[in-house]
Amino acid sequence: KEDDALIESDKPKETFADVGGLEDVKKKIRMNFILPLQQPELFAAYGKEAGGSLLLYGPPGCGKTFLARAVAGEIEANFMHIELQAILAMYVGQSENNLHNIFAKARENKPCVIFIDELDAMGGSRHQMRQHHDRMLVNQLLLELDGLQAENDQVFVIGATNTPWYLDSALRRPGRFNHLVFVPPPAEAERETILGLKLAGKPVEPLNLSRLAGETKFFSGADLEQVVSDAVEMAMERTFETGEIQPITAGDLRQAAKSRKATTLEWFA
Ligand code: ATP
Repeated sequence: KEDDALIESDKPKETFADVGGLEDVKKKIRMNFILPLQQPELFAAYGKEAGGSLLLYGPPGCGKTFLARAVAGEIEANFMHIELQAILAMYVGQSENNLHNIFAKARENKPCVIFIDELDAMGGSRHQMRQHHDRMLVNQLLLELDGLQAENDQVFVIGATNTPWYLDSALRRPGRFNHLVFVPPPAEAERETILGLKLAGKPVEPLNLSRLAGETKFFSGADLEQVVSDAVEMAMERTFETGEIQPITAGDLRQAAKSRKATTLEWFA
């Protein structure tokens, strides 16, 4: 079907335990999204209900998508990933229809987390024809968000952007993406945690990850994942040469880190 091409839908197994660091972000999400669903009576006493929308922003590769999947994993919800670019590429009318169908499908499959990546793509166009198209789609999204708000539907919308300053201001009004959460690059202790998570279960020589964490300033979670994957390849090469499982060494990791670029620095420039 036409719509299905645009949305990947699954039931994520990832949970917050798989996300390294970001403790403040997790706490905020737990308070606003997860606990209201698990203990509705406590929140009802304060007039708060489950559901709502959240906007994650920050440099690429620091866990926005991963975190959104983990939210779904935490509440055993379905996860729908919307590629906004694909919807924007459609004809006027068709785009809005598609967005509407996605939200309808989410309601049928609740609890559900809808993840909208590259939210800034909507409304970022300078071309006049495109601008009109973008506006129609923003309006449709607002309509859908308002609908969810009214229904308290156990459908959670998580938007993500690398460039919040390009975001259409209408999306930021109360009741819409009003929970704005910065997903920062991992600090040193968090890099150590992420490296540990990515190495878990693999053959590794006993090593001190804090040193490597210190040497990977400005690396994103995705960069660190890549470092581990490069180091794995080095160890595997030795394994094939020797015919015996060879552990990943501190040297592999250091060499891998040296040949990778820290990508979060550019974002702040
Ligand atoms: P983009 O803005 O480019 O979409 P993003 O912020 O959504 O990036 P993710 O796609 O979530 O980044 O991260 C890429 C990969 O990096 C993830 O699949 C995950 O394996 C790893 N990663 C990033 N941050 C973390 C983290 N805090 N803990 C564990 N893994 C992480």
